[in-house]
Amino acid sequence: MLDGLRPVSANPCPCKICGSPAPLFGVVDFHQTCVGIRGVQFRLSGVPIYYRRCDNCSFLFTDAFDAWTVEQFKTHIYNEEYKLVDPDYSDFRARGNAGAVVRLWGPLRRETRVLDFGGGNDTLCAVLREAGFAAAVTYDPMVPQHAGRPDGKFDLVTSFETFEHLPDPLAGIRSIVELTADPGLVFFSTLLQPADFNQQRLHWWYVGPRNGHVSLFSRQALVLAWERYGYRVASLGDNFHFAFRSLPHYLAHLESSAAAPQSRAA
Ligand SMILES: [Zn+2]
Repeated sequence: MLDGLRPVSANPCPCKICGSPAPLFGVVDFHQTCVGIRGVQFRLSGVPIYYRRCDNCSFLFTDAFDAWTVEQFKTHIYNEEYKLVDPDYSDFRARGNAGAVVRLWGPLRRETRVLDFGGGNDTLCAVLREAGFAAAVTYDPMVPQHAGRPDGKFDLVTSFETFEHLPDPLAGIRSIVELTADPGLVFFSTLLQPADFNQQRLHWWYVGPRNGHVSLFSRQALVLAWERYGYRVASLGDNFHFAFRSLPHYLAHLESSAAAPQSRAA
């Protein structure tokens, strides 16, 4: 059984991103996963997990786990069976993302200090260190070897497939902002709600409490979240995004094509 779940309220709660009312939106079984036919489907747990969606920014979230400690997340979600519901977690995805970073930043590697936030087992940073980056440090509160907060600021902060796991996404963004140099760049991924989300609702494959997917962004929610810290967001499609306060000198030529936060949020 799951201990410590927050009891559901039928009343709207404040949106975790913008504070507007977020009424209940739908409910799925705790064992709903994101892997479909690629992995194991657990049998129904009998534990309902309610999601809310913000009336203003369309952020979709559950507050069911908001009182959990890191230990409770490790016991019930990030446990031995987690790799069954996220088969790419340990290695494959990290190497693919590392390859993208090397391609994009390779020429600047000697002067680029990288922090990987939510970087799990350090695979990504190991590839970057081997490729000659000035520094590549993993910071992941869920992994004991990498749970210590690093010192200093980083030119490039990466965070792949992390934001959807954060019960308090603004706190996560605040941590990232505190660790990012200015100018500096955050390169991250989280899948945004698709155009037909209102038809798919909680059947959308990315909704999966057993995968720890508790915070699911609309584009507006993502822009508003970063705007709180004075950051702008530019996206490559629906999954990969950049956030920055002022662009590093080598990207300054892109400044005019990145819209100001107010106009993007409109
Ligand atoms: Zn909102």
